[in-house]
Amino acid sequence: MSRIAYVDGVYRPHRDASVHIEDRGYQFADGVYEVIAVRGGKLVDERLHLVRLRRSLAELRIEGALADAPLKFVLREVVRRNGVLDGIVYLQISRGIAPRDHGFPKTARPVLVVTARRSRPANPKLAEDGISVITMPDIRWERCDIKTIALIANVLGKQQAREAGAYEAWMVDGEGRITEGTSTNAWIVTTDNLIMTRGADHAILDGVTRQALIALIRRGGYRFAERSFTVAEAKAAREAFLTSTTSDLLPVVAIDGQPVANGVPGLLTQKLRAEYLAHVAEHV
Ligand code: PLP
Repeated sequence: MSRIAYVDGVYRPHRDASVHIEDRGYQFADGVYEVIAVRGGKLVDERLHLVRLRRSLAELRIEGALADAPLKFVLREVVRRNGVLDGIVYLQISRGIAPRDHGFPKTARPVLVVTARRSRPANPKLAEDGISVITMPDIRWERCDIKTIALIANVLGKQQAREAGAYEAWMVDGEGRITEGTSTNAWIVTTDNLIMTRGADHAILDGVTRQALIALIRRGGYRFAERSFTVAEAKAAREAFLTSTTSDLLPVVAIDGQPVANGVPGLLTQKLRAEYLAHVAEHV
């Protein structure tokens, strides 16, 4: 089955799909996106993704994007046309096409692109063995709560992690506190079993996986605080893990080459992972 993409109102063969050279997403990274997991052909936590999408659009003052009902139709249609049962659907909305000028164009209308692709759930070995992260200064702008397509700092961070043989880079703010990973949220469990992740301030993206896990944690009655932590606190933690749509929940067993506790996935982390996977399975 050949891949199909949706570009600005038209379903096209993926290999021929393209945007205009004066699309502001291409020229200014003037746009937003979402990545939604597909399990059994169903979109996981779609409502949370669409709420976040509307918020991102409003923060960038991008008006006139497709409303939720037709957007949901397009998402399903792209998933269906690509025969995706397990994978992801990607959507991007730019401010539109206009002669290059920084200020908002008067006449442009938003351009929507949707693609979908099959992917296996993250390699189970990553969950069994755990993954390593490195830390680095967070060099991004002050509105990381908006899911913009301006991801160059994240791109450079992820590449640095890969070159260091790590799965992810945890970025660190000016006060020495971890903000988040380049495409994941960061969590620790302290030695007195308090689960911690940074509060959803402007320094992080409020991950949908993060939101779903917080709801499960609250329901489960675990000790939990939305609080930032330093690199030293993370290195002294009993357990650490990360979350995202594409990684689910993965145990972090080393930070900057130093084992977290005894260097194996933590028990609470494994329990939370099982609860999160059960939550995802509910969609199927
Ligand atoms: N933080 C950043 C910077 C991200 O790019 C992402 C996902 O792409 C996340 C966190 C996790 O968000 P979600 O759980 O919605 O995938």
